[in-house]
Amino acid sequence: MIPVIGLTGGIGSGKSAAAAIFAELGADVVDTDAIAHELTAPAGAAMAALRAAFGDAVVTADGALDRAAMRRAVFADARQKARLEAILHPMIRAEAERRCATAAAPYVVLVVPLLLESGAWRERVRRVLVVDCPEAQQAARVMARSGLGEEEVRAIMAAQASREARLAIADDVIDNGGELARLRPQVEALHRRYLEMAAVS
Ligand code: ATP
Repeated sequence: MIPVIGLTGGIGSGKSAAAAIFAELGADVVDTDAIAHELTAPAGAAMAALRAAFGDAVVTADGALDRAAMRRAVFADARQKARLEAILHPMIRAEAERRCATAAAPYVVLVVPLLLESGAWRERVRRVLVVDCPEAQQAARVMARSGLGEEEVRAIMAAQASREARLAIADDVIDNGGELARLRPQVEALHRRYLEMAAVS
């Protein structure tokens, strides 16, 4: 079996930046966020089930998921959130597994933002790789990118696992608290390790 490395980290920690370097080096990258977007794009595979469960109000004119409407529907309503996840999560997992199983590279980097929060992923990966940076930096990067205010960003961060909890389950850690230029050598070192791992598995 091709080794699957679960790459995770808090919002804005640098997961996409790290994954892009892994891809450049020749790893296959499977991104669960990208899969979620595909499933909920116009005519996406999850759209019929979502429309049936939540009605036309959560579907845009072109047949995609209306994210803002969906957010409002599940906001502060745990049952609705659970319904949404019951539809979407198994589909995301199935598609991610299909892509991991058919990968052509020596190993796969599976990007799962909420790897800790949703336990089902941990047993599916060979190693957990955490992209880590101080919370203040995380917040600053997300604000710069999204235009969200500090309070909104802090609220998102508060709903995610803590930095300590993530580090506690990490097999490997990328320190992305420094300049972007420091990311590449760390990814290169891990790439060499994962290639060695793949060679003996
Ligand atoms: P999300 O959880 O929101 O998907 P992410 O963990 O994938 O985010 P990135 O999108 O890779 O994080 O990075 C967040 C932002 O911070 C991007 O605009 C990126 O260019 C920038 N960034 C990433 N790493 C660094 C760094 N070391 N120094 C400065 N900026 C960085």
